[in-house]
Amino acid sequence: MLHIHNSMTKKKELFTPIEAGKVKLYVCGMTVYDLCHVGHARVMVIFDVVTHYLRANGYEVTYIRNITDIDDKIIARAHKNGENIKELTERFIAEMHHDADALGVLRPDKEPQVTESIVEIIRMIETLIDRGYAYTSKNGDIYYDVSAFESYGKLSGRNIDELRKNKFTTTLDQTKDDPLDFVLWKAAKPEEPAWNSPWIRGRPGWHIECSAMSTKSLGQRFDIHGGGQDLQFPHHENEIAQSEGAHGCQPVNYWMHNGFVRINNEKMSKSLGNSFTVREILKKYDPEIIRYFILNSRYRSPLNYSNQQLDQAKNALTRYYTALRDIEIAPNIDWKNDIYFGTRFKMAMDDDFNTALALSVMAEIRLELNKAQRNKTQARIIYLASLLRSAGKILGLLQQSAKNFLMGNIINNNKRTKIKTLIETRNIARKQRDWVKADQMRDELIEMGVVLEDTNKQTNWRNV
Ligand SMILES: [Zn+2]
Repeated sequence: MLHIHNSMTKKKELFTPIEAGKVKLYVCGMTVYDLCHVGHARVMVIFDVVTHYLRANGYEVTYIRNITDIDDKIIARAHKNGENIKELTERFIAEMHHDADALGVLRPDKEPQVTESIVEIIRMIETLIDRGYAYTSKNGDIYYDVSAFESYGKLSGRNIDELRKNKFTTTLDQTKDDPLDFVLWKAAKPEEPAWNSPWIRGRPGWHIECSAMSTKSLGQRFDIHGGGQDLQFPHHENEIAQSEGAHGCQPVNYWMHNGFVRINNEKMSKSLGNSFTVREILKKYDPEIIRYFILNSRYRSPLNYSNQQLDQAKNALTRYYTALRDIEIAPNIDWKNDIYFGTRFKMAMDDDFNTALALSVMAEIRLELNKAQRNKTQARIIYLASLLRSAGKILGLLQQSAKNFLMGNIINNNKRTKIKTLIETRNIARKQRDWVKADQMRDELIEMGVVLEDTNKQTNWRNV
């Protein structure tokens, strides 16, 4: 029975979906003006595992992760680069996908973009004005009236009066009624992107986008909302105020927040110059090592990044792959059917997705495998190796060939581009029912050590 730690109640709760057998999941995604750093990798990998595990439990999961493609930082960066905003955001969306693919993170079912959701955003702001939760300020911007939403602060546990007092001393914004009020729609400067609205010509504030996009994609109520701990306040607090204000119902049943990433035990920040991009790490380490490193801690704990930690993850994976080398896997073996290890793996994952504990169960399987190898008990060797591969699938680990991993297979750009081209050519051939060509492309991919997985939405690939 899956239990999830709900940040709203600060308790582990039995997971019960709104609709039996279905899970609706929304995660706050990236603001696309730069390369993904290790903090982004953490969010992507954690919710990838959450999705895999829910699906392995038979749930039909709809996973939405938004893309913020308009905001102050994007505008500033485009200006600095002398680049068109759309070109900049498209470039970094492609870079984000590149990193996600490298990390073996499956694409969410939808990745709604703010600039494609303006109609829904405007509609929601109109509703908030109609229901008395928003107002037009002196300068024409639209603000959310925090004092109208009685339970403001319930997620983060912040005290409104304290917040107000602190804000008064730090902000001297005269345009809003209350220092806690936050912007829903703001005027754009002449050179900035802007949309017509019932109010001033402008663009949405940040918080409203997630309320509008989650409603658009999942409806007014959904099961799980995820994101980094840093988003809990004010972003998620504001999302609740908006969605609940507009719809009159609680939008989310379970709030999941992952902990911060620290670098050498210091806070990660660009200003400290210690933020690592995924791209930099991938130059030195196989992507699976990053995944292992991320999953070897509980998702709610802080994660400390250091080369030493990554080297440890590399050593651990090397032990697995060395044990798995040259063993033919029996595909019918499913971790769920294993009474001893499988049950404990499930218990770990059912306990708020405790991947660190799940990995320790896998380490025990590996030790058993080593023992079987010493004793040369062939059937046992195949069984345990297959069990490892099967459990590893949930975590997105141990899915490449031992040879690839052990021979330092860092996927390079040229190989990746070639794979993509072959997959695209194959998809076109399949559409045209040119099976001979499609098979040729597949064979060429197999030659390159790539296995294709066709879903009804897309073709995924992985190393053998
Ligand atoms: Zn968000």
